[in-house]
Amino acid sequence: MRLDFYLSHAEGMSRKDAKLNITRGRIKINSTVVKKANTQVKESDEVTLDGVTVGWPSERYYMLHKPVDYVCATQDDEHATVLDLIPANLHKDLKVVGRLDIDTTGLLLLTTDGQWLHKITSPKHECSKTYIVHLSTPITTNAITELSNGIMLHGESAPTLPADVELISERCIRLSIKEGKYHQVKRMLAAVGNHVDTLHRESIGSLSLGEELALGEFRTLTEGEINALS
Ligand code: URA
Repeated sequence: MRLDFYLSHAEGMSRKDAKLNITRGRIKINSTVVKKANTQVKESDEVTLDGVTVGWPSERYYMLHKPVDYVCATQDDEHATVLDLIPANLHKDLKVVGRLDIDTTGLLLLTTDGQWLHKITSPKHECSKTYIVHLSTPITTNAITELSNGIMLHGESAPTLPADVELISERCIRLSIKEGKYHQVKRMLAAVGNHVDTLHRESIGSLSLGEELALGEFRTLTEGEINALS
Protein backbone atom coordinates (compact mmCIF):
# COMPACT_ATOMS: atom_id res chain seq x y z
CA MET A 1 0.00 0.00 0.00
CA ARG A 2 1.04 3.65 -0.40
CA LEU A 3 3.02 5.22 2.45
CA ASP A 4 0.47 8.02 3.05
CA PHE A 5 -2.30 5.42 3.17
CA TYR A 6 -0.29 3.26 5.58
CA LEU A 7 0.42 6.20 7.89
CA SER A 8 -3.09 7.62 7.86
CA HIS A 9 -4.43 4.24 9.02
CA ALA A 10 -1.56 3.46 11.36
CA GLU A 11 -1.71 3.77 15.11
CA GLY A 12 -2.49 7.28 16.33
CA MET A 13 -1.80 9.31 13.15
CA SER A 14 -4.32 11.53 11.35
CA ARG A 15 -4.25 11.98 7.56
CA LYS A 16 -2.99 15.54 8.00
CA ASP A 17 -0.15 14.48 10.32
CA ALA A 18 0.78 11.66 7.94
CA LYS A 19 1.30 14.10 5.05
CA LEU A 20 3.24 16.59 7.19
CA ASN A 21 5.51 13.92 8.64
CA ILE A 22 6.39 12.63 5.17
CA THR A 23 7.22 16.06 3.72
CA ARG A 24 9.28 16.99 6.78
CA GLY A 25 11.49 13.91 6.31
CA ARG A 26 10.52 12.36 9.63
CA ILE A 27 9.47 9.03 8.14
CA LYS A 28 11.88 6.20 7.35
CA ILE A 29 11.22 2.87 5.71
CA ASN A 30 13.85 0.31 6.72
CA SER A 31 16.17 3.11 7.97
CA THR A 32 15.94 5.22 4.77
CA VAL A 33 14.22 8.62 4.79
CA VAL A 34 11.28 8.59 2.37
CA LYS A 35 9.70 11.83 1.19
CA LYS A 36 7.35 10.51 -1.47
CA ALA A 37 3.79 9.84 -0.30
CA ASN A 38 3.24 7.27 -3.06
CA THR A 39 6.15 5.02 -1.97
CA GLN A 40 4.88 1.45 -1.60
CA VAL A 41 5.02 -0.16 1.87
CA LYS A 42 5.13 -3.95 2.22
CA GLU A 43 3.98 -5.85 5.30
CA SER A 44 7.56 -6.82 6.09
CA ASP A 45 8.83 -3.18 6.01
CA GLU A 46 9.66 -1.27 9.17
CA VAL A 47 8.16 2.22 9.12
CA THR A 48 9.40 4.71 11.73
CA LEU A 49 8.60 8.28 12.79
CA ASP A 50 11.63 9.98 14.37
CA GLY A 51 13.07 6.50 14.90
CA VAL A 52 9.98 5.08 16.64
CA THR A 53 8.12 2.26 14.90
CA VAL A 54 4.73 3.22 13.48
CA GLY A 55 2.80 -0.04 13.74
CA TRP A 56 -0.31 -1.22 11.96
CA PRO A 57 -3.01 -1.15 14.67
CA SER A 58 -4.27 -4.43 16.09
CA GLU A 59 -7.85 -3.03 16.06
CA ARG A 60 -9.21 -0.55 13.53
CA TYR A 61 -11.92 2.10 13.95
CA TYR A 62 -13.48 4.19 11.17
CA MET A 63 -16.22 6.73 10.67
CA LEU A 64 -17.98 6.83 7.30
CA HIS A 65 -20.39 9.38 5.82
CA LYS A 66 -22.95 6.93 4.46
CA PRO A 67 -24.77 7.90 1.26
CA VAL A 68 -28.17 6.51 0.21
CA ASP A 69 -28.29 3.30 -1.88
CA TYR A 70 -25.64 1.48 0.22
CA VAL A 71 -26.66 -1.28 2.62
CA CYS A 72 -25.06 -1.82 6.01
CA ALA A 73 -23.89 -5.37 5.36
CA THR A 74 -20.59 -6.93 4.47
CA GLN A 75 -22.12 -8.70 1.46
CA ASP A 76 -25.30 -8.24 -0.55
CA ASP A 77 -26.41 -9.76 -3.85
CA GLU A 78 -28.55 -6.81 -4.92
CA HIS A 79 -27.01 -3.59 -3.59
CA ALA A 80 -23.66 -1.97 -3.02
CA THR A 81 -22.54 -2.34 0.59
CA VAL A 82 -20.83 0.24 2.80
CA LEU A 83 -17.66 -1.86 2.54
CA ASP A 84 -17.53 -0.90 -1.15
CA LEU A 85 -16.63 2.61 0.08
CA ILE A 86 -13.55 1.33 1.94
CA PRO A 87 -10.38 -0.03 0.30
CA ALA A 88 -10.27 -3.83 0.24
CA ASN A 89 -7.00 -3.99 2.19
CA LEU A 90 -8.87 -2.61 5.24
CA HIS A 91 -11.81 -5.07 5.09
CA LYS A 92 -10.39 -7.92 7.16
CA ASP A 93 -12.56 -8.52 10.28
CA LEU A 94 -14.34 -5.19 9.77
CA LYS A 95 -17.88 -5.02 11.18
CA VAL A 96 -20.57 -2.36 10.89
CA VAL A 97 -21.52 -0.78 14.24
CA GLY A 98 -25.34 -0.76 14.18
CA ARG A 99 -27.29 -0.36 10.97
CA LEU A 100 -28.66 2.50 8.94
CA ASP A 101 -31.37 1.82 6.37
CA ILE A 102 -30.48 1.91 2.68
CA ASP A 103 -32.14 5.36 2.34
CA THR A 104 -30.57 6.83 5.53
CA THR A 105 -27.46 9.01 5.29
CA GLY A 106 -24.91 10.08 7.88
CA LEU A 107 -22.55 8.84 10.54
CA LEU A 108 -21.72 5.14 10.43
CA LEU A 109 -18.99 3.50 12.48
CA LEU A 110 -17.04 0.41 11.47
CA THR A 111 -14.56 -1.51 13.58
CA THR A 112 -12.73 -4.78 14.13
CA ASP A 113 -13.17 -4.38 17.92
CA GLY A 114 -16.15 -6.46 19.03
CA GLN A 115 -16.20 -5.15 22.61
CA TRP A 116 -16.25 -1.51 21.47
CA LEU A 117 -19.02 -2.33 19.00
CA HIS A 118 -21.06 -3.92 21.80
CA LYS A 119 -20.73 -0.84 24.05
CA ILE A 120 -22.15 1.38 21.33
CA THR A 121 -24.98 -0.88 20.22
CA SER A 122 -26.09 -2.55 23.45
CA PRO A 123 -29.19 -0.79 24.92
CA LYS A 124 -27.68 -1.39 28.39
CA HIS A 125 -25.00 1.26 27.69
CA GLU A 126 -27.59 3.85 26.55
CA CYS A 127 -25.30 5.46 23.97
CA SER A 128 -27.36 8.17 22.26
CA LYS A 129 -27.80 8.40 18.49
CA THR A 130 -28.96 11.70 17.06
CA TYR A 131 -30.88 12.05 13.81
CA ILE A 132 -32.12 14.92 11.68
CA VAL A 133 -35.59 13.84 10.61
CA HIS A 134 -37.47 15.51 7.76
CA LEU A 135 -41.19 14.81 7.96
CA SER A 136 -43.98 14.68 5.41
CA THR A 137 -46.41 16.65 7.63
CA PRO A 138 -45.89 19.27 10.38
CA ILE A 139 -45.11 17.76 13.78
CA THR A 140 -47.69 18.41 16.50
CA THR A 141 -47.01 19.34 20.13
CA ASN A 142 -48.74 16.11 21.17
CA ALA A 143 -46.42 14.06 18.95
CA ILE A 144 -43.36 15.75 20.48
CA THR A 145 -44.63 14.93 23.98
CA GLU A 146 -45.32 11.31 23.04
CA LEU A 147 -41.89 10.84 21.43
CA SER A 148 -40.21 12.47 24.43
CA ASN A 149 -42.01 10.28 26.96
CA GLY A 150 -41.61 6.99 25.06
CA ILE A 151 -44.16 5.21 22.91
CA MET A 152 -45.26 1.65 22.33
CA LEU A 153 -44.20 0.45 18.89
CA HIS A 154 -46.12 -2.24 17.04
CA GLY A 155 -44.83 -5.70 17.96
CA GLU A 156 -42.73 -4.54 20.95
CA SER A 157 -43.28 -5.53 24.58
CA ALA A 158 -42.02 -2.29 26.16
CA PRO A 159 -42.28 1.39 25.19
CA THR A 160 -39.30 3.19 23.68
CA LEU A 161 -37.00 4.92 26.17
CA PRO A 162 -37.59 8.68 26.62
CA ALA A 163 -36.13 10.59 23.65
CA ASP A 164 -34.89 14.16 23.22
CA VAL A 165 -36.80 16.06 20.57
CA GLU A 166 -35.74 19.46 19.29
CA LEU A 167 -37.98 21.33 16.88
CA ILE A 168 -35.93 22.71 13.97
CA SER A 169 -38.87 23.69 11.78
CA GLU A 170 -42.45 22.48 11.56
CA ARG A 171 -41.44 19.54 9.34
CA CYS A 172 -37.96 18.89 10.71
CA ILE A 173 -36.82 17.65 14.13
CA ARG A 174 -33.56 16.61 15.79
CA LEU A 175 -34.27 13.32 17.59
CA SER A 176 -31.91 11.62 20.05
CA ILE A 177 -32.61 8.04 21.06
CA LYS A 178 -30.70 5.60 23.24
CA GLU A 179 -31.76 2.36 21.56
CA GLY A 180 -31.47 0.91 18.08
CA LYS A 181 -34.61 -1.09 17.42
CA TYR A 182 -35.32 -2.14 13.82
CA HIS A 183 -36.36 0.97 11.79
CA GLN A 184 -36.83 2.69 15.15
CA VAL A 185 -37.04 6.32 14.05
CA LYS A 186 -39.39 5.60 11.14
CA ARG A 187 -41.61 3.45 13.39
CA MET A 188 -41.67 6.10 16.14
CA LEU A 189 -42.80 8.77 13.71
CA ALA A 190 -45.37 6.42 12.14
CA ALA A 191 -46.71 5.71 15.65
CA VAL A 192 -47.47 9.42 16.11
CA GLY A 193 -49.20 9.65 12.73
CA ASN A 194 -46.36 11.16 10.71
CA HIS A 195 -43.96 9.85 8.05
CA VAL A 196 -40.18 10.19 7.65
CA ASP A 197 -39.21 11.71 4.30
CA THR A 198 -35.44 11.73 4.88
CA LEU A 199 -33.27 10.57 7.75
CA HIS A 200 -29.69 11.58 8.53
CA ARG A 201 -27.62 10.50 11.55
CA GLU A 202 -25.46 13.37 12.73
CA SER A 203 -23.91 11.91 15.89
CA ILE A 204 -23.33 8.88 18.09
CA GLY A 205 -22.63 9.74 21.72
CA SER A 206 -20.10 12.61 21.69
CA LEU A 207 -18.93 11.82 18.16
CA SER A 208 -20.31 14.03 15.37
CA LEU A 209 -19.98 13.61 11.64
CA GLY A 210 -19.33 17.32 11.14
CA GLU A 211 -18.56 18.84 7.74
CA GLU A 212 -15.18 17.29 7.06
CA LEU A 213 -16.22 14.08 5.29
CA ALA A 214 -18.07 14.30 1.97
CA LEU A 215 -20.74 11.68 1.23
CA GLY A 216 -19.03 8.29 0.81
CA GLU A 217 -15.77 9.34 2.50
CA PHE A 218 -14.34 7.69 5.60
CA ARG A 219 -11.50 8.25 8.05
CA THR A 220 -9.77 6.54 10.96
CA LEU A 221 -10.98 7.63 14.41
CA THR A 222 -8.50 9.28 16.75
CA GLU A 223 -7.61 7.66 20.06
CA GLY A 224 -9.61 10.36 21.87
CA GLU A 225 -12.71 9.61 19.78
CA ILE A 226 -12.38 5.86 20.35
CA ASN A 227 -12.00 6.33 24.10
CA ALA A 228 -14.87 8.82 24.32
CA LEU A 229 -17.25 6.10 23.12
CA SER A 230 -15.80 3.31 25.31
N1 URA B 1 -34.09 4.44 12.51
C1 URA B 1 -34.61 4.16 11.30
O1 URA B 1 -35.82 4.04 11.15
N2 URA B 1 -33.75 4.01 10.27
C2 URA B 1 -32.41 4.17 10.38
O2 URA B 1 -31.69 4.04 9.39
C3 URA B 1 -31.88 4.48 11.64
C4 URA B 1 -32.76 4.61 12.70
